[in-house]
This record gives sequence, structure tokens and C-alpha cells, in this order.
Amino acid sequence: MLLKETKDKLLPTLKTYFGYDSFRDQQEQIVESVLTKNDNLVIMPTGGGKSICFQLPALLFNGLTLVISPLIALMKDQVDGLKANGILADFYNSSQEKFEQDEIFDKIYSKELKMLYVAPESLSFLQNILNETYISCIAIDEAHCISSWGHDFRPSYQQLGFLKNTLPNTPIIALTATADKATRADIIEQLNIPKATQFIASFDRKNIELEVRPANDRISQIIKFIEKQPKESGIIYCLSRKGTEQIANKLKQQGIKAAAYHAGLNFAERTKTQEDFIYDKTQVVCATIAFGMGIDKSNVRWVIHYNMPKNIEGYYQEIGRCGRDGLKANALLFHSYSDVIQLRKFMNGASNEEVQVAKLERIKQFSEATTCRRKILLSYFGELLAENCGNCDVCKNPPQLFNGTIIAQKALSVITRLKESEAIGTVIDVLRGAQNATILDKGYDKLKSHGVGKEISWRDWQQYIIQLINQGYCEIAFHKNNALHLTDFSKKVLFENEVVNLTKPIEYKEQPVVEKTT
Ligand code: ADP
Ligand code: ZN
Repeated sequence: MLLKETKDKLLPTLKTYFGYDSFRDQQEQIVESVLTKNDNLVIMPTGGGKSICFQLPALLFNGLTLVISPLIALMKDQVDGLKANGILADFYNSSQEKFEQDEIFDKIYSKELKMLYVAPESLSFLQNILNETYISCIAIDEAHCISSWGHDFRPSYQQLGFLKNTLPNTPIIALTATADKATRADIIEQLNIPKATQFIASFDRKNIELEVRPANDRISQIIKFIEKQPKESGIIYCLSRKGTEQIANKLKQQGIKAAAYHAGLNFAERTKTQEDFIYDKTQVVCATIAFGMGIDKSNVRWVIHYNMPKNIEGYYQEIGRCGRDGLKANALLFHSYSDVIQLRKFMNGASNEEVQVAKLERIKQFSEATTCRRKILLSYFGELLAENCGNCDVCKNPPQLFNGTIIAQKALSVITRLKESEAIGTVIDVLRGAQNATILDKGYDKLKSHGVGKEISWRDWQQYIIQLINQGYCEIAFHKNNALHLTDFSKKVLFENEVVNLTKPIEYKEQPVVEKTT
């Protein structure tokens, strides 16, 4: 329990140092949980207000709050922002001179600091201060970086498990905007915080209309799209640096104020592009995913993915940059098989290639889906929507549905009989009564449900099961060899006669693989 004396300080501190009159959503509970020295895992979308969750407690603790962040480039800005609010904050990383680092140590020893931002690779230099007299709290930002199941794995994060061992009584608050269930479990395990309280905010951004279109003649589609809302600003994400420049040039030829942004530009150019965008001098930024982190512009009206994103986490984070003011916004994704092939090639030989490929497969399925896209996105993050959203292209233009309850029951009961241990291919083999080596070796031909779905072709089963996944009736466990697992919704189908609507499988027209010559 939090002392009343401390509780009474929360709102005044929020007002004095941050200028806000009230907490948003779960912020207050999180702050209280940190101050009572619980470990916490906070999952909140970008722009949700994660910073307050550790910055406010930092001001009320006696000692120092360490903020571990991978984004060295943003540390100075973040700290300058805090200092401007009168908060005793600083940062420590490898970009600093020795004398600057010494100054930081002096400030720590004389207890002049409330918050210190550090990169994980710099933690070893701070060993002398890593004891409970100095450190009151540890915040780990972008916590998904610790997990190779996440989409942005960073080896330097892997050592962070030692923090709990070294400082067992210091509360840890891990924060991230993007973590599926497996990643969440992995964060908790790797940070050694099994008792962490989990705060999972809703990821639903109802105001963003979702749309996927085939990638034919993208530039003219984009120009038409922009012409419909000629004053509104937006971001176009592309895979390559060259792509950003080419697209920006084509838009400029049409008289649209566009600029390219990628990591190959120098610092001054990037800063100028960012500022011109923030102050509405540039309407459209064509960017690689380097753009957007740390940009606080609430009236971005749309985000276009010129190329397919690598995974749903990245896609969701990027579309989250539009409509932060809560007003209507649009996210348009171009679906292209050649992009999928390209991305697949990038993944060759990656340390977690298998996970990356499975995630790519999910975003491909999302693009091809014939069910509410928001349901798919949210169920990916473990949030189940009961109703279709009404604000995506599928909801607005629904395909023909039929009652697929029996099909769903068959698939889910096979998954149950297989004890949730097999991936989609084997599940379909069992449904279809296959007699191949795997099936016979494992004795699956003896299961009662072996062959219950003989009448449906392999391809159709594949599409039906993807529809079931997309609707949240089952899920892929990436961390367990992609085995199909049941969800809370499965029970409704198996035991409560819930009606499941499916769409007729689309005829499979895989486009020929055209190798690019350039
Ligand atoms: P995140 O780190 O989750 O992406 P931030 O902490 O940067 O989000 O907050 C996003 C925006 O919301 C910021 O502009 C911040 O000023 C604003 N914000 C956060 N908490 C509150 C609050 N309690 N009241 C009003 N605005 C808030
Ligand atoms: Zn929908």
C-alpha cells in the first residue's frame, strides 16, 4: 500500500513538473505500483504516455532512477526536455567525453540527480553505483529489445537480467509499445521479474481507418490519395533509401511538398526534414522506418506503406504515428508479393530467421485477409474484439460469408486432440486423414478426429485456418515451433455453439516470382 502522504503528492507533482491536470488511463495505477516497489511490465501503444509511468515516481523516490534506453540518439533530447521542466536528469553513454562522464559521477555521488538515462552497453561502467543506496528504481524502455522473439532484438539488452540479481529490492519497470504474448513472457523471464504486475493497455486505435490495396501503379494511387486531402500531412514508409528519394521526387513533380528521410542523410538534413514536417512546411515525408521514433506530431493524418512491412509489430507502430489527436486518420498498405520475397531474402541467415519468417507470414496473411483487419491486429497482440470494427476496408466492403461453425469445430477439435503441439501443416494433414510418415510415426492416424475434414482440400483448409486465426479462434505460438494453440474464443466454438462466419476461399493466384534485375 502506498502511504497517503505519497499518494497526495501524485497530482501536484504531475501538474508542477509535467503540466498535466490528470492521469491518463492506467498511468496512476502504474505509478502507484512502481512507488510500492513492485516490478512492472507496461505494454502501451506509442503515444500512450509511458514516460510518466517512470518519470513521476523518479521524482518521488529518494535515490536515482536509472532509465535504460537503446536510443542514444534521442537521449539528449529527452533529457533536455526534462531539464526544461526543472527535473534533475542527465544521460550517460559512449558518445560522451571522459570529463562529461566524470561530471555525471560527481552528480550521482552528491545525490544531485533524479534520473539517469543510460544505454545498456554503458551499464558496466556504472558498476560502482549499482547498489541500493543509490538506485531507487530501474526503468527499461523499449523492453522488447531483450527478446529474440520480438522484432527488434538487441544483444546489448540480453545482459540486463543481472540487474534484478544485483539489486533484488529495487523495483524494475519494463516498458514497450510492441510485444506479443510470447515476447511478454520472455521479457519477464529474462529480466528475472516473475512477479511483475502486467499493465496492458488497449491497442485499439479506432480512429485509424485501415485499408490494404494491391500494389499496382502505386504512385498514381498515392497521388490520387493525397489529392483527396490536399492539406493534410502524412508519411510514406518505404523499404529502401533509394525508394524514399524516388517517390519524393515523383510527388514533387506533381507539385506536392514532399521530402525524403533516411539514415543515409546527414544530421542537418534529417533535422531540417523533421522540423519542416512538424511545422507543416513539408506535407509528405517519404521515409525508411528510421523516421518517426521520437517525433511528436499529433496531426499526421495518414500513413502509407509503399512496401510491405516486415511484421505486424512494425506495421502497427508505424500506422500509430497518424491520428494521435484522436481525429479520423487513414492507414493504407500496399500488398505486394515481390516485396514479400525481397523481405524474405533479407532474413536469410539471421540468427532468429525462423521467427522473422513466421512474422512475415503473419503480415502477409493480414494483407490477404477477408475478415475485419482490426480484429486481426488486435488478436495478434492478444486483445480479442467481440465485434467487427466497421472502420476497415473489409468491414466497409464485406465479402460473402457462410456459416462455417462445423469447419471451425473440426479444426479446433483436431488442435485440441493434438494437444496444441503441431503447426498448421500437420493439423491439416490430420484433418484430411493423411497417412504420411509424420502422421504414422506419431500415431495421429489413431486419433478420433483423424480424417474428419477429408471433404475439404488442403489449400482451402489452409485459408480457413488462417481465417480462424485472424478472427482470434486460435493462434500461432511462434515460440513453440509455430504450433497452433487455442484461445479463450475457442471454447465458445467448441462448447457454447458460437456461430463462426467464414468466407469462401479465394482462388489461389500466386503471382509468378519475377526476379528484379537491378
Ligand atoms: P509513449 O512513450 O508511450 O510513446 P509519451 O510518454 O511520449 O508516450 O507520451 C505521449 C504524449 O502524451 C506526449 O505528448 C505527452 O506529453 C502526452 N501525455 C502523457 N501523459 C499525459 C497526461 N496524463 N495528460 C496529458 N498528456 C499526456
Ligand atoms: Zn474491421
